[in-house]
Amino acid sequence: MPRTHIIGAGVAGLSAAVALARAGHAVNLHEASGQAGGRCRSYFDARLDCAIDNGNHLLLTGNSSTMEYLEDIDAAGALAGPASACFPFLDLRTGRRWRLRPNAGRLPWWILDARRRVPGTRARDYLSGVRFAWAGADRTVTDCVGESGALFENFWEPLAVAALNSPVRAGAARLLWPVLRETFGRGEAACRPRIARTGLSATFVDPALDLLRRSGAAVRFGARLRRIAFEGVVARRLDFGADTVALDDGDGVVLALPPQAAASLVPDLTVPEESHAIVNAHFRLPESGVLPEDLPFLGLIGGTAQWLFVRGDVASITISAADDTIDEEAEVIAVKTWQDVAVALGRDPDPLPPYRVVKEKRATFAQTPAQVRLRPGTRSRFANLYLAGDWIDTGLPATIESAVRSGHMAARAVESAVS
Ligand SMILES: Cc1cc2nc3c(=O)[nH]c(=O)nc-3n(C[C@H](O)[C@H](O)[C@H](O)COP(=O)(O)OP(=O)(O)OC[C@H]3O[C@@H](n4cnc5c(N)ncnc54)[C@H](O)[C@@H]3O)c2cc1C
Repeated sequence: MPRTHIIGAGVAGLSAAVALARAGHAVNLHEASGQAGGRCRSYFDARLDCAIDNGNHLLLTGNSSTMEYLEDIDAAGALAGPASACFPFLDLRTGRRWRLRPNAGRLPWWILDARRRVPGTRARDYLSGVRFAWAGADRTVTDCVGESGALFENFWEPLAVAALNSPVRAGAARLLWPVLRETFGRGEAACRPRIARTGLSATFVDPALDLLRRSGAAVRFGARLRRIAFEGVVARRLDFGADTVALDDGDGVVLALPPQAAASLVPDLTVPEESHAIVNAHFRLPESGVLPEDLPFLGLIGGTAQWLFVRGDVASITISAADDTIDEEAEVIAVKTWQDVAVALGRDPDPLPPYRVVKEKRATFAQTPAQVRLRPGTRSRFANLYLAGDWIDTGLPATIESAVRSGHMAARAVESAVS
């Protein structure tokens, strides 16, 4: 029976492996590190004495590929979030709080209702969003919606920086349209915010590994692919250093690796070369923290971080496009961001609670027009070698949804090759 070797057990590799295993294919999953999940993982932190995620991950119910993946691994119930779409914000400079509440159905009448939209905006301001629909490949976010005004500061900028992990003046406008179309464009039910109820690994990773093992897939860790031997346009051997794997006729390989790792293994592969950082700081509170209306997150305007998440007694902030912050001392980052957390949670800023700062230097590729152009498709120039990862040309920003979609695209390509 032909076998598919999937290299990299991040969300892209896991979703490709799950799709193929469920379709009855023989699957081997090889991961370099000692743990699956890649950029979306949990671990036990000794200083905080609890499990934390490498970074807060926010999804929307309209992330259809991710929802399908979670259904497939029987983990749809592992997400938490409000029963209806609601995005709470706090302006740290003025203390003003508000909630964005899209309505049910495709017709966005919430923009006509001052209690549901961003304060200080008019309904017609929102029409600027349509410019993303026909944004040219060279356009940036600010080319489409300018760079001032209440709607920009309190909606477009936080949305774009979170989705593109890039500064708004550089972020590719074209990537935002599918996000808007697949979530806000489909009404309230498609833009309910969701986070992992107990942790990223328990939601996206462990149930997938369980399913793979039950399906007879071979999963191994500490297996870094070092070289691929090619014969003409066919991959023939995988070299993991300690062992090699010969590829028989009909065997396939899915490289679900970060772009630089894929480029080092595949001759003449073009990949995005620049990346942006994300910094998270996790604070262990003396007791459970509670955000207004029991929502698990809060958008922060005018502070260092853009988002605050609270899960039990851990409050965590996210700084996206954090290239200016990444080189600061962890303590400096913690002290600075804790001030904002204390305000948001209505707590005394003294003392600083135990904290952990997690810096992901290459959190995503830089989603600028120039870098987006470098995204390759699923098929490589080698007949039995496929590519997956959030940086593949899915048309989406580099998110979990893009990673899962790329995994599904690779699985379909493998299936069509063997059928
Ligand atoms: C801090 C942070 C916050 C984020 N927030 C969000 C969010 O709110 N919402 C959202 O949707 N997305 C978010 N993302 C993005 C999301 O995490 C990624 O898009 C997704 O996890 C990428 O998955 P992947 O499988 O494509 O890549 P990766 O997770 O990078 O997986 C690649 C895997 O390949 C392995 N590997 C590398 N080289 C080799 C080799 N030679 N041989 C074998 N294995 C190898 C790696 O160890 C890794 O496990 C965030 C990312 C970060 C870092």
